[in-house]
Amino acid sequence: MTRIETVICIGCPMGCEIKLTVGAKGEITKISGNRCKEGKSYAPQEYKNPVRILTATVKTANSSRPLLPVRSARPILKRLLLPSMPVLAGITVTAPVRVGDVVVPNLLDTGVDVIATGELLS
Ligand code: SF4
Repeated sequence: MTRIETVICIGCPMGCEIKLTVGAKGEITKISGNRCKEGKSYAPQEYKNPVRILTATVKTANSSRPLLPVRSARPILKRLLLPSMPVLAGITVTAPVRVGDVVVPNLLDTGVDVIATGELLS
C-alpha cells in the first residue's frame, strides 16, 4: 500500500508543494510537484532525515551581556535539536569571543561545531 506525503520546498520563494509517493517499506517511488531538480533532491532528504540550523544562546561570564547567541556551523538532524539544549545549557563562555569562534566542538558527535554569532568583549 502506498501513501502520499507532502513536503514544502524551501529552496526558493516559489515554495513548491512536492508530493512523495511512499511505498509500504518506506521507499519513495515517485516525486512530483517540484519545479526544478533542487526540489527533487531536497524533498526526500526533508522527508527521511530533516536537518536544521540550531540557534540558541549560552551563558556568559565576566561580561555585561548575560547571553551570547550561537548557532551550529552547519545543519544538524532535526531530531538532535532538543537533545542539544542540555549541552548548551551547561556552557558558559568568557570574553573575549569573536563571531565564528567555536563554542562547542563536535556537538553530540555530529562533527558539527556550535559557533558564536555575536561578540563578547572583555
Ligand atoms: S523545487 Fe525548485 S523551484 Fe520549487 S521551491 Fe524548490 S528550489 Fe524553488
